[in-house]
Amino acid sequence: MKFAEHIADLVGDTPLVKLSNVTEGIACTVLAKVEYVNPGGSVKDRIALRMIEAAEASGALQPGGTIVEPTSGNTGVGLALVGQRKGYKCIFVCPDKVSEDKRNVLKAYGAQVVVTPSSVPPEHPDSYYSVSDRIAAETPGGWKPDQYSNPEGPNSHYHSTGPEIWADTDGELTSFVAGIGTGGTITGTGRFLREVSADRAGGRVKIIGADPEGSVYSGGSGRPYLVEGVGEDMWPRAYDPAVVDDVIAVTDAESFAMTRRLAREEGLLVGGSCGMAVVAALRHAATLPADATVVVLLPDSGRGYMSKIFDDGWMGSYGFLPEQAEEQTVGSVL
Ligand code: PMP
Repeated sequence: MKFAEHIADLVGDTPLVKLSNVTEGIACTVLAKVEYVNPGGSVKDRIALRMIEAAEASGALQPGGTIVEPTSGNTGVGLALVGQRKGYKCIFVCPDKVSEDKRNVLKAYGAQVVVTPSSVPPEHPDSYYSVSDRIAAETPGGWKPDQYSNPEGPNSHYHSTGPEIWADTDGELTSFVAGIGTGGTITGTGRFLREVSADRAGGRVKIIGADPEGSVYSGGSGRPYLVEGVGEDMWPRAYDPAVVDDVIAVTDAESFAMTRRLAREEGLLVGGSCGMAVVAALRHAATLPADATVVVLLPDSGRGYMSKIFDDGWMGSYGFLPEQAEEQTVGSVL
């Protein structure tokens, strides 16, 4: 009989899928690494597992302990399902702008959710950073993974995502493209792929970041954008810019138009940061010869964005409907 002991044992080993229809005008092969097939539905299951196991090994997380993290989304789900497997309680702190649906997903896994006001600055005692620090300090056995500074985030990708991509492309990979949020994915995966290909005859793998226009990674001021999970207004410790060869800025309109195309034209119902990463991957791929191979990482599923990116009313209110955005998208992708 073939079965897993627990759903958390199935994190990682995600497939590569060729993009065939959104790649018009591109000579080389573009492969998507589909992370929504992870048990919690996103790439973040990987860091959750490794951060928890490292904290157990160091003694920072003791049996019966409580995981406390400011997170509203994918990292919370990953921590909750690994926490469930290992018997840890989870308390997640979310700002009130986070939708009730997202909070309910965390509660469904048995986590406790504490809601804080969105309108206060990070240093305010009621901010979600301050509240999570306070709860972690005041809860006996409390431990805060802190995905923005925890080196086990990038390490999880160095030890899993990177080796998986290298093995599945038989060492033929030319470039790796990923969005940058905490920076953990691109830093860990990119570091492994650079190192493993360092002495290759054709040259090493190029590491390309994708960033929402306005975010600091692509030289912006941190001004707002709508794509979720990527971009920053500060530089987290999980991100090592030395690993990255180039960062490509992508607008919200381009990201969302491509996200919708991925569902309709490739059968990939994925989130907005996936559309963003694919726009950057195609722009990079357009500069490469036919024998090149590009892998682009798609972090999560489109299910969490049905009332936004996949809702015509929401898209139309921002002028993002594919018809409305068509001219800019076609003009700038290729
Ligand atoms: N996309 C989504 C939807 C995410 O939740 C995240 C994680 N914040 C990312 C992309 C970026 O991943 P990383 O934090 O590893 O840079």
